Parts: sequence; structure tokens; C-alpha cells
Amino acid sequence: MRPKNKLYNLAIHGGAGALQPHKYTSKQISEYEKCLIASMTKGQSILEKGGTAIEAVIESVVIMENSPLFNAGRGSVFSSDETIEMDASVSCGRRIKTGGVTNVTRLKNPVWGAFHVLENSKHALLSGLSADLYCLNAGLEHESQQYFKTEHRLEQLHEAMEKDIVQLDHGDKVGTVGAVAMDIKGNLASATSTGGMTNRHPGRVSDTSIQGAGTYAENGLVAISGTGTGDIFIQNVLAYDMAAMMKYAGISMNEAASTVLEKLKIKGGSGGLIAINKSGKTILPYNTHGMFRAWLNESGKIQTAIFK
Ligand code: ASP
Repeated sequence: MRPKNKLYNLAIHGGAGALQPHKYTSKQISEYEKCLIASMTKGQSILEKGGTAIEAVIESVVIMENSPLFNAGRGSVFSSDETIEMDASVSCGRRIKTGGVTNVTRLKNPVWGAFHVLENSKHALLSGLSADLYCLNAGLEHESQQYFKTEHRLEQLHEAMEKDIVQLDHGDKVGTVGAVAMDIKGNLASATSTGGMTNRHPGRVSDTSIQGAGTYAENGLVAISGTGTGDIFIQNVLAYDMAAMMKYAGISMNEAASTVLEKLKIKGGSGGLIAINKSGKTILPYNTHGMFRAWLNESGKIQTAIFK
């Protein structure tokens, strides 16, 4: 989708999964929609004023990280040792450059940490306590573990432990968050943030923090933010696989997205992605029952959807 009257475009997701209407009350649905709209409104206002794609994707993601509804920042799922570990990355299409943090436990907004790594460090990805400290020393806001922990997440952990599974969040309510944008100068950017998977091994690294796995952006080509079974996204370098199909084989964004989602399914995973190409067209495909998502329609109005 591409708004006819705008030079920019934006799309977001809040995770894909076994989302079925009967599992939600209308009040819950409206809370999700409200948060999706707030996230889009923030990003759109930045782009409308001539702000950069990277600013827009970060600020859109921050709104979802601050909400307990999504599996990112506040509301993140638990690792098997009952800690919260969060991952995020930001991908700048203009510079083909990424910044990421993985397994941070204190940073209020991991996406700001990722941006700080992108802009100010000599590295692409920082991990654990050192990543927390690197960001805290720069004045980024931090919180105690208690801030991130929610009761329903703890219940999910105990259920997953009983079944002895590592679970994608989307079995139940919420998911990883992400945004893709093109600004009025045609720059592309993407950002993704997650609490990972329920009952994962402490220290496990998700695709969300890794350039080319769950996030990728390259000007003149595409910006992508994925959600789903991260280990398979990493093993198959899915975001970059999609970009490479478009770049080297001239395959359309739609077809490249279907191919990687099919790959994800064949390997036993599930999920979805959002992407924006060099013409500013967005797509939001997934191979699950639903995906929390929002985009701008032809007239530049915010649209949200959750189910098929
Ligand atoms: N990709 C994330 C992970 O593997 C999970 C998700 O997208 O919900 O940690």
C-alpha cells in the first residue's frame, strides 16, 4: 500500500501468531488498536514534518515498548530463569548500517540502545550487562527488572515450563514489535524489538537484534522487520534472503516475502514481516492466524488489523 498524496510511508507490526478473534474481548482489541494507532501517529507526525525514516521507526517502536500489551520492553516474556532479557536492532538503509543490543535487562527502551550502538559505538551489536551499562552511561533511561515483569507473562512461563517448550509469544496475546519507513528523501529504515520467546535459555540471542535475520534496510531496495520463530530467521538469514532475491534476481517484494515465509514454514517456524520498497510500497504478510499490524492507506489514513 502506498498513500497517493504522501512522499513518505510507514508500517508497523506487534507480532504474528495464533491470534483468533474469540480469544479477545472487544475491550482488549480496542486497547491493541489504540496502541497501534498511537505508534503510527507518532511515526507519521515525524515523517510529515520531514523527519528521517530512522527517527520515525524508533519513535513508533518506543510507543509499543512502553506498553505492557506487546512482547518488547515493558511486557516482555520471561526466560527460563524468570528474568527478562530484551533484544532490539535499528537498520539504516542510507548507510546500510545496523546497531543492536541483545540480552539487555535494564534498558527501558532497547530500541534507543540499538540506535546508540549504531550511532556511537564502533560495533554492530552489544550484549548483556555491558550493553546495558554502555547505554546507561550515555544517559539512556533504565528500569528495574520489576518494571518489565507482568503477571500474565509469568503464568505463560510456568505453562511453557510444564509443557517443556520454548514458545513464541503469539500463542497467546502479544508479540515482538517492529516498524519500517521511507522518509521524504527516500531513505529507508527498519527497527525491531522483542522480549524473545517464553522459556528460552537465558542468554539466547534472537533474530530481532541481528542485521539480515529479523531486520534489514538498504536504500533503493527494501526495509524489513520480521517476527516469528527467531532461530529459523537466523539460521536462514531470512530478512537478507528476501532483500537479496529482490536485489540480485529482480524478484518482486511480494514474491520474495512469500518465498521467505514459505521457507520459515517448511523449517517448522511461523511468523510474518512488514516491508517497504524503494517506491514506498508497504506489505504486511504472515503465515499465522493473524498479526498485529498498521499501515497508511491510499489516502494516507492509518489502518489497523489483527486477524485475517
Ligand atoms: N523473533 C522473536 C524471537 O525469536 C520472537 C517474535 O517475533 O515474537 O525472539
